[in-house]
Amino acid sequence: MSTATEALAYNVEKTRKDFPILKREINGYPLVYFDNAATSQTPQQVIDVIVDYYSNYNANIHRGVHALSQEATDKYEQARKKIQEHFNAKKTHEIIFTSGTTHGINLVANGFASLLHKGDEIIVSALEHHSNIVPWQILAEKTGAVLKVIPMNQEGELIYPAFEELLSEKTKLVFVNHVSNALGTVNPIKKIIDKAHQYDAAVLVDGAQAAPHIKADVQALDVDFYVVSAHKMCGPTGVGMLYGKEEWLTKLPPYQGGGEMIATVTFEKTTYADLPHKFEAGTPNICGGIAFGAALDYINTIGIEKIAAYEEELLHYATKKLLEIDGMEIYGVSKEKTAVISFNINGMHPYDIGTILDKLGIAVRTGHHCAQPIMDFYKIPGTVRASFSFYNTKEEIDVFIKAVVKAKTMLT
Ligand SMILES: *Cc1c(COP(=O)(O)O)cnc(C)c1O
Repeated sequence: MSTATEALAYNVEKTRKDFPILKREINGYPLVYFDNAATSQTPQQVIDVIVDYYSNYNANIHRGVHALSQEATDKYEQARKKIQEHFNAKKTHEIIFTSGTTHGINLVANGFASLLHKGDEIIVSALEHHSNIVPWQILAEKTGAVLKVIPMNQEGELIYPAFEELLSEKTKLVFVNHVSNALGTVNPIKKIIDKAHQYDAAVLVDGAQAAPHIKADVQALDVDFYVVSAHKMCGPTGVGMLYGKEEWLTKLPPYQGGGEMIATVTFEKTTYADLPHKFEAGTPNICGGIAFGAALDYINTIGIEKIAAYEEELLHYATKKLLEIDGMEIYGVSKEKTAVISFNINGMHPYDIGTILDKLGIAVRTGHHCAQPIMDFYKIPGTVRASFSFYNTKEEIDVFIKAVVKAKTMLT
């Protein structure tokens, strides 16, 4: 099927009925939610799972002999299995539950502190979210490793040849996002992973922004670590996953000490539990983990390819309409991008535009989007960012375009 016919086969009105929040009005206008890159909305199917957990089998896991604990444990471990299957990890214990992308990255960065030496090199990209920059700066400071940056071009793409030049025998780790949250650029991660592996460097991919739109197959990518947050893919906040190759997770020391992550404890010596528990100290977000599994079920029922094709249609439609507005500047014009549009108009402050849009019921993000280095590159304080999801419509984009034109008139 061509992309166009596949998108036609998708029924957005049916999808919208699954999201109760889309019925809301804001300031007397129907909500137009275009802040999906910050967090996605939650379908009733996932809300039901959350209510069911607290109504019927709330209990601590892996410990109790009683029925509720067993039920909660089974559901939690089933969710881990769903996540494993979704990302095609080889083994279930390569999936570590985290509180989100930020937690996953910090877990890996902390682990590498004991593996790196002064003078080793680690490479980050210019397109990163702060949560994929700051933990590595802390790591470099702690270990004496040198942090290098893959530069970007005006289109908002990484300059791949410059990456090749940064690599050397000293390179131990490369971290790059799959999709930039500020610009929507899809990075050539397969090429980056393969190249880094020629130097025996490990690669961590921040998949937070990609996971709602692109199905990552961690085995096909041969990636060493892949991290996501459930709340960007129709799941709840406060839960995510870290995928790590078994050999790496075995090598890394635990991140936090506590219950659940130990095999034996004496004051002389503690031995750690096997994977994945070694990295899951304390009572986890049990309900969140189970709901994360339900969110994947929901997305897979529609089909991520269908979602991506439909969102691409929205992206092209909105881009074309926005560019008809005089003074419009769109940042990030890579051919490979997800449905994120970062823009400014004629030096107007993004915050002012965002405030007017909010008055009209439209939710967008304004500011630096936790990616200040990108804003510095373009020499701007920030942008207005509209990010679309598969429950948005062209009619909503029409409303949005009218509102942007109105904001421009008001601010001129
Ligand atoms: C949202 C996001 C993060 C941070 O995710 P949290 O859920 O806040 O931990 C990191 N990287 C990218 C690319 C993101 O979009």
